[in-house]
Amino acid sequence: LGEFARIDQIFAPLSAGAPGAFGLTDDAALLPDAGPGQGWVVTNDAVVAGVHFVPDDPPDLVARKALRCNLSDLAAMGAAPYGYTVALAMPREVAGDGAAATDWVRAFARGLAEDQAAFGVHLLGGDSVSTPGPLWISITAFGRVDSAQALRRSGARPGDELWVTGTIGDGALGLLARNGRILRDDVTEPLVQRYLLPEPRTRLGPALVGIATAALDVSDGLVADAGHIAHRSSVRIEIDAPAMPLSAGAIACVDSAPDLLHHVLTGGDDYELLFTAPLDRRETIEALAAETATRISRIGRVTDGRSGVTVLDRHGEAIDSLGSGGWSHA
Ligand SMILES: [Mg+2]
Repeated sequence: LGEFARIDQIFAPLSAGAPGAFGLTDDAALLPDAGPGQGWVVTNDAVVAGVHFVPDDPPDLVARKALRCNLSDLAAMGAAPYGYTVALAMPREVAGDGAAATDWVRAFARGLAEDQAAFGVHLLGGDSVSTPGPLWISITAFGRVDSAQALRRSGARPGDELWVTGTIGDGALGLLARNGRILRDDVTEPLVQRYLLPEPRTRLGPALVGIATAALDVSDGLVADAGHIAHRSSVRIEIDAPAMPLSAGAIACVDSAPDLLHHVLTGGDDYELLFTAPLDRRETIEALAAETATRISRIGRVTDGRSGVTVLDRHGEAIDSLGSGGWSHA
């Protein structure tokens, strides 16, 4: 397939739900009015074969993860997702006119279509080019939020509580298992799946607007990401290690190799929402958890100490014995 046929046959159908995309026949897309008091939130995430995924990973999974990482960033801002653009740089083996290349692109688009249906977003445009380098994918996503109330990292206040969605550490453990560094095939399969296909919290994020005082999505690792909130908000954050929500697979891994707990706390790729909220919002948050069928755990608190993060053990003692500056980050 040549470029025009590729757009026409493979990508244009993905734009059908967005009138301003003009079926990808114009030079650019038109975003609709955001709505009264609403603003557009925009985010971009790029992934490179050999760095963020393995070149022969299934193209539909690669597409879905790339899209989901962007949707997770929108959710972290409290934005409801609307649409996205995608740029693909393909090496000749993929970008040529051969049947294998067309199969790859079709599978890639099939993954996008699947998640478009799951998350209610539409393709607004994009580009594809040939490259002498590795396969490279860049997605830019657009969402809408009340412009005065977008969730930021800077609003945490002493006395707030710290919450996190889902389970923590599965992405990091899944990657280790995939690279042959955890040999527990009996328990790691769901962790690998979580690494390959994170679950962006697109329903909960917008529902936290007006409730959460600060939020972000966990991509650098729980402790580092809590540190981002702490620094942007000029507060101290205490995390209770025993309150950490772990999946059954993660518990089995940590039980057989306790030093893996370090990866749980500091690994990345979870794409869960970490947020702070005042004490009197506890019941509201618990109701939201039920309403959106999302596990939400209270894992710590915000204090007015020196800006940074402290991880506490089950006795309430700071843990600082585990490498890389420990868990008590200045
Ligand atoms: Mg993020």
